Amino acid sequence: MPVSPTDAFATRAIHAGQQPDQRTGAMAVPIYQTSTFAMDEVGVMKAGFDYSRAGNPTRTALQIALASLEGGRHAHAFASGMAAIDCLLRTLLRPGDHVILPADGYGGTYRMIDQFGVPWGISCTTVALDDLAAVRAAITPRTRLIWCETPTNPLLGVSDIAALAEIAHTAGAQLAVDNTFASPYLQTPLSLGADVVMHSTTKYLGGHSDVIGGALVTSDEELAEAFTDFVTTVGSGAAPFDAWLTLRGVKTLALRMERHCDNAERIAELLVGLPKVARVYYPGLPDDPGHAVAAKQMRRFGGMVSFTVVGGEEEAVKVCSRTRLFTLAESLGGVESLIEHPHLMTHASVADSVTAVPPDLIRLSVGLEDADDLAADLADALS
Ligand SMILES: *Cc1c(COP(=O)(O)O)cnc(C)c1O
Repeated sequence: MPVSPTDAFATRAIHAGQQPDQRTGAMAVPIYQTSTFAMDEVGVMKAGFDYSRAGNPTRTALQIALASLEGGRHAHAFASGMAAIDCLLRTLLRPGDHVILPADGYGGTYRMIDQFGVPWGISCTTVALDDLAAVRAAITPRTRLIWCETPTNPLLGVSDIAALAEIAHTAGAQLAVDNTFASPYLQTPLSLGADVVMHSTTKYLGGHSDVIGGALVTSDEELAEAFTDFVTTVGSGAAPFDAWLTLRGVKTLALRMERHCDNAERIAELLVGLPKVARVYYPGLPDDPGHAVAAKQMRRFGGMVSFTVVGGEEEAVKVCSRTRLFTLAESLGGVESLIEHPHLMTHASVADSVTAVPPDLIRLSVGLEDADDLAADLADALS
């Protein structure tokens, strides 16, 4: 029996797209590690698959699950989050079009438009998306897309998805939301009016730091068809094994996100009380500037916490090498806790751009270890 859209999130995460194999009863979706598919006769496919660049049953299973979790009609799974962004930009934008980007957002998105979009005639403006008047002021007659990320990477800024959707639609533009930091468990942008949701499934959806992947989810038939044509032509869809690993992660997303949120709340509260910490960025803190909007549109506040330290860049770099359980590494959203210095690591390539981040900032991806152990580790590193 297929899963119903009215089933709860945790149920859909385990069953959507994941029925036991019809022929063998295999409980886990098989890894269809094949490039091509035998046909019954010329032009007649057995199950809608002819060549794995265009489509593969393991990828399809993941896509059904992702569409269900985001409450969208169509999902496309990609070889990376950046491949998903590339597909969206190249199917939606034409020379002369204008894009609004978050001033504080994933550096790779800015770099893609700056390095690869601008030479093809795309223009962009970066705006702090929590300032709705500034967003309205940045709209031009050629604005085709507002790209939103909330909470942002790495400053955990929160913007109002429903308000941005209205601004975009009034201007005849579309709203895309990078939902990587929240995951669909905490926030479903399509239900708030967004046209497309993008994920780096490398992060919370995969959840185990063992696979790179991306996704686009939409209920817009025209966009979905354009994404299908793009993936079929370019070949940037998720490979079978990568899709399988991601699907395996998706099954436990609800459980994992609850624990990520529990642990992050505990760590944010700890940091607020430490004398070496200058400022804590976490939308779950009642006095955080993004708290009210986050409380309105998110189920909980997520597993990412950023903070600045007293003593500037030098001290921030030292703290990053003093932790025992928080591993010094880029990326986020896995079971293990990570610590990093955005200015010199994840955001180094945008250090001289408008999306530069404070040099004394540290970003934590709070994992699923015991909360007492994590708190003790940070307290030691900041003592
Ligand atoms: C990691 C990340 C991306 C890029 O995804 P990849 O899977 O690394 O290609 C995009 N947006 C956000 C917010 C990310 O954290």
